[in-house]
Amino acid sequence: MKVHFLGTAAYEGIPSLFCQCSTCHQARERGGRNIRTRTSVMIDEVLKVDFPPDTLYHSLKYGIDMNNVQDLLITHSHSDHLYAEDMGIRAKGYAQFGNSPLHVYGHEIPLQRCQQALKGLSHNYKFHRVDPFESIKTQTATIVPLLADHDPNETCLLYYIDKEGTTILYGNDSGWFPEQTWNWLKDKQLDLVILECTTGHSLNRNNHMNVEAVLETKIWMEDNNVLKPGAQVVVTHFSHNAGLLHEDLTEIFTPAGIQVAYDGLVVQL
Ligand SMILES: [Zn+2]
Ligand SMILES: [Zn+2]
Ligand SMILES: [Zn+2]
Repeated sequence: MKVHFLGTAAYEGIPSLFCQCSTCHQARERGGRNIRTRTSVMIDEVLKVDFPPDTLYHSLKYGIDMNNVQDLLITHSHSDHLYAEDMGIRAKGYAQFGNSPLHVYGHEIPLQRCQQALKGLSHNYKFHRVDPFESIKTQTATIVPLLADHDPNETCLLYYIDKEGTTILYGNDSGWFPEQTWNWLKDKQLDLVILECTTGHSLNRNNHMNVEAVLETKIWMEDNNVLKPGAQVVVTHFSHNAGLLHEDLTEIFTPAGIQVAYDGLVVQL
């Protein structure tokens, strides 16, 4: 299985539009892995998680034919994860799409956003409302949405993805996991864990994970035998406001056996 990290930044991107902070200045100077667009991953070219405003840019940069995507999982309605206005680009009059529908999975608010954006348009999306801890078979995998602690106004979801026996936890945007999610994970066996580290060394671990929460999550997973032998843990969704460059993040996470994602990273499982 191929997991392609298309973008690895939080809402603002790095360097961020307008920003004059030292992280953004240095990111502009250094380029390379310090340039980050909004977060999304693509699995085997057919299963995508989230639809950020950089989706057009991702398809151009990586040569992705979005018409090959069969399943689109939406974590929550924040615009860095769902830029619903661009869903209309697939509708009649804007695109000549193929016959096979694009299946979209999400909780209530993301699906409402999509319906609003597509109002009056003819399209071949198929929308599926999902609920926490209820397993669903999609076109390409079996998924289980898990609860996040991210935005109190919305049911934000993480996804457990089982594609032909290879298992991924997509943990983003999560905050420190709610108790039900930890309990659900206890008897699972994961090949890849994707965590968010948005807030760096900030002391708060609700809404978003900080460095400490990511490190503790890996230890919890080791202690509970949740990681398969050779499993990989990757951290993503970074904000310039954390004040950490790619090099700083690597220094923090490499000794703990955690890989720091960058735009374009491919993980093979
Ligand atoms: Zn986000
Ligand atoms: Zn900045
Ligand atoms: Zn969010």
